[in-house]
Amino acid sequence: MPQYKVAIVGAGPAGYFAAQALQNLQSDELKFSIDMIERLPTPWGLVRSGVAPDHPKIKTVAKVFEKIANTEGFNLYGNVELGSDVTIDVLKAKYDAVVIATGSAIGKKLGIPGEELPGSISAAEFVPWYNGHPDFSNHEPNLDCDTAVVIGAGNVAMDVARMLALEPSELDATDTAMHAIEALRNSKIRKVVISARRGPEHAAFTSPELRDLPKLEHTNVIMNQADIASALDRAGAEPEKEVRSNLEAMRIISELLASNHARTMEFQFLCTPKEFRGNGKVEEVVFTTSEGGEKVIKCGLVITAIGYEAAALDGVPSEKGKVLNEDGRVGENLYVVGWAKRGPSGVIGTNKSDAADVMNLLVADLKDPKPTTELSSLITTAKVISQSHWESINAAEIAAGEPHGKPRIKAVLREELLRLGGL
Ligand code: NAP
Repeated sequence: MPQYKVAIVGAGPAGYFAAQALQNLQSDELKFSIDMIERLPTPWGLVRSGVAPDHPKIKTVAKVFEKIANTEGFNLYGNVELGSDVTIDVLKAKYDAVVIATGSAIGKKLGIPGEELPGSISAAEFVPWYNGHPDFSNHEPNLDCDTAVVIGAGNVAMDVARMLALEPSELDATDTAMHAIEALRNSKIRKVVISARRGPEHAAFTSPELRDLPKLEHTNVIMNQADIASALDRAGAEPEKEVRSNLEAMRIISELLASNHARTMEFQFLCTPKEFRGNGKVEEVVFTTSEGGEKVIKCGLVITAIGYEAAALDGVPSEKGKVLNEDGRVGENLYVVGWAKRGPSGVIGTNKSDAADVMNLLVADLKDPKPTTELSSLITTAKVISQSHWESINAAEIAAGEPHGKPRIKAVLREELLRLGGL
């Protein structure tokens, strides 16, 4: 019975769904041994370091990941970095197929004056900071100001704005990184403006996220009724289903009775960012309005949430922030799935069918199996996190959270994670 070895690089949703698709394709005639390689000492990708901590339901998909990881033939190699610990060429030579599932981690830039000023950061830094990603634990977003502006009208912008505008005690029962809970507790920010360059009918928010906003108990959520009324006019009598559903959710928000909480989240539309200005740090954001005028918002923090690009990987061709591919095929025995393949769009579940399609191609391309090689003999790092090491980290974090009513307290430093793993 042929047994093929597949290396999956990246332990996020796309990587796990690729592994699951291979497991589902197994038969008496076809077996896979799957080695999942992850740069961090922890797996789960965006489920750990992207999903907003106040949306714990989305994270329950981690149970599916753990089931995949505990299926025969699956091995986790955490704390192993492609490029420095093992190269793509070595993987391609030793494995029957290699699947890139490294996502898109770099925040897109606006490319306007002042974007590099202190006080201007990307959601690609802020989100992993509050989620305890080891590479971002030293960041210190400026929360010592009254107003923050979030640029972008997608779900990431909304997550970021909510995290800034929530009453901090609402984060106590979440797995928000402890350093972020502390910083947000001391935050002076009381107003968060989410700014969209187009009208509400073009916003990339999804309606379940919009429908959650009126449930915020300690935050004023403000949308202008006139903005929504003109968007409804522009959308016409038969808008697409998603647009109709979004506009309905926004209409409800715009008609919310005024509340008088200390914290406010306010939406503005049809304002294109033109410049960030300030003396050595961000002090205001200048927008061009749809009428061609100028609008200025004074603020000390501006977070851009306008999409992501995939980081280039040595030996993997890329173009326009994605791995160059045709339906997931990159080259001989090299494939790509998830955001690195199709760009930063879609929810976690989108990766399931996407990865399954690519794994069907991979299986169709298989030739005779290569001789078996142990990945541990190919990698240079001594401290590899296996599934059982990860399970020790996971159990320790959950146990640390329990007395505090939290799902877990995340360890954020690499050394601490390795120690919890027993290394
Ligand atoms: P997104 O949904 O693509 O939204 C990006 C936003 O940035 C758009 O509103 C876009 O406006 C705006 N933008 C792009 N370039 C801009 C520029 N130069 N100036 C001003 N605005 C600009 O991306 P995302 O928010 O990063 O989310 C990525 C994916 O993850 C999405 O599919 C999202 O639904 C998903 N996600 C889901 C959840 C959830 O389910 N809870 C949470 C987070 C993320 P234009 O349309 O005008 O280009």
